[in-house]
Amino acid sequence: IPGLMQDVPLLTTAILNHVEVAHGRTEIVSRTVEGRIHRYDYAGLAARTRRLARALLRLGVKSGDRVASLAWNTHRHMELFYAVPGLGAVLNTVNPRLFDDQIVYVLDHAESTVLFYDRTFAPLVDRLKDRFTTVKTFVLMSDEDVHDAGAIGALNYEALIGAEDDGPLAWPSFDENAAAFLCYTSGTTGDPKGVLYSHRAVVLHGLAAGLASAFGLTAFDVVMPCSSLYHATAWGLPFIAPINGCKMVFPAEKMDGASLQELIAQEGVTFTGGVPTIWTMYLDWLDQNGQTPGRLQRVIIGGSAVPRAMAETFKRRYGVQVLQIWGMTETCPLGVVATPTPSVAALGEDQVDEIIWTRQGRLQFGIELKVVDDDGNECPRDGETSGSLLVRGPWVVNRYFRKEADAVNDDGWFDTGDIATLDEHGFMRITDRAKDVIKTGGEWISSIDLENIAVACPGVKIAAVVGVPHPKWEERPLLVIEPHDGRAVTKAEVLAFLEGKIVKWWTPDDVVFAAVPLTATGKIDKKTLRAQWGGHLTG
Ligand code: ADP
Repeated sequence: IPGLMQDVPLLTTAILNHVEVAHGRTEIVSRTVEGRIHRYDYAGLAARTRRLARALLRLGVKSGDRVASLAWNTHRHMELFYAVPGLGAVLNTVNPRLFDDQIVYVLDHAESTVLFYDRTFAPLVDRLKDRFTTVKTFVLMSDEDVHDAGAIGALNYEALIGAEDDGPLAWPSFDENAAAFLCYTSGTTGDPKGVLYSHRAVVLHGLAAGLASAFGLTAFDVVMPCSSLYHATAWGLPFIAPINGCKMVFPAEKMDGASLQELIAQEGVTFTGGVPTIWTMYLDWLDQNGQTPGRLQRVIIGGSAVPRAMAETFKRRYGVQVLQIWGMTETCPLGVVATPTPSVAALGEDQVDEIIWTRQGRLQFGIELKVVDDDGNECPRDGETSGSLLVRGPWVVNRYFRKEADAVNDDGWFDTGDIATLDEHGFMRITDRAKDVIKTGGEWISSIDLENIAVACPGVKIAAVVGVPHPKWEERPLLVIEPHDGRAVTKAEVLAFLEGKIVKWWTPDDVVFAAVPLTATGKIDKKTLRAQWGGHLTG
């Protein structure tokens, strides 16, 4: 029989309405692309979002339409995050680091009719405008006094919303399964694939991520998202922070150590997160400038494996806890978070650190995980047996946008393409991407494990391991090292450092020194590395 409770759809506007009433005076601080610092509060966000929604309606945006953004982490982008889905339209956050052809592909595939862009991307928009077949309106997200309409006659964001009223707006109510965001994977293999987040998925994901078992946020936290709003909605922080009443700080595009430190120290940031490369730069900067990270308490790191040395430095030098997370565009993106449990805590502090720094995270309510072998049989949860990682849950993709077939198997499990182990404490450890595993003489070597160890070698900034063809062993590991600026590291030093930390047959066949290419989402670009170095051992 049906329950008799209120049937209120889970929509993103509920978050905005809540935060305006409950935490209206809580601040939102944003660096702008113009360089200024912009300050307002959640009441201000809600008011400007209403203006923006009215402007979108005036531009003819209707329920179900796609609106695209090419923008950094700023308050204006945050306004789009609420105004577009609030109307029942879909925000397609485009990753500007994709190649031109991919950006054209994404906008075309999404059939976006309006494009909002930061001035940084004006040259990009100018270069590609004639190839965007569906975009009719361009809006430059800048202050009015520095507006440049360019050849496309872009509208100005501030003028556009300034012409509208910020009075009460009856946001539409609709099915919570309606689409809210369209995020494309970076397309390291083939064309980018569109993942269409529903309101329900975004809200449930936002609720779950704030729990004490995950990010553990309270209204005393000051949250600064340093993963990009255009990459899987910055891990959902634009929803997670307001749900928990947290002050927010947006760094725009400035992810260098000095700029981050300015905001962290002055705004009292307690909680931040981003890919490992950002924190490598930040820790270097703190070290060189003899500063400490103010009130910072927790840093969530994911996207690539967290180097152990990074987590150790944060904790031992600065008393900051690193929480490793794992997820992907297809999971909204949070899958697991590495927080201790009583069974792990009982093993003692050293073991806690070992486990939460070397595992990607533990099971969170809402996302089921399992690891299967090549025949699809579930592997034991023993922390040893690795296999393909499958996930299932209300914020996991079911089908890619505009595809005919589902992306999941008959039981609803999505194959992540990651190779992982699960252990008896519920912790998951990624050992590789399926396509990056090194197969040598019938055995597997984990490129991620090797990289994690090598990156701790003094002087090493990035360590990348790829399998390259070998005449006898099929493939052997090659270690590519990018040293810190101005540091000379030798092959002998690196090999001596690895000795004793890995089994002998894992020892890379060679160590080379070169700049390591990164993908549009800041991961080591192994496809390019394999192309560059594929012939290294065969001549
Ligand atoms: P892309 O578009 O670059 O594929 P995603 O964010 O969707 O961007 O990438 C997801 C992949 O990133 C995961 O499948 C996994 O391989 C990798 N990843 C994410 N977090 C971690 C982590 N903490 N450790 C290791 N790999 C990770």
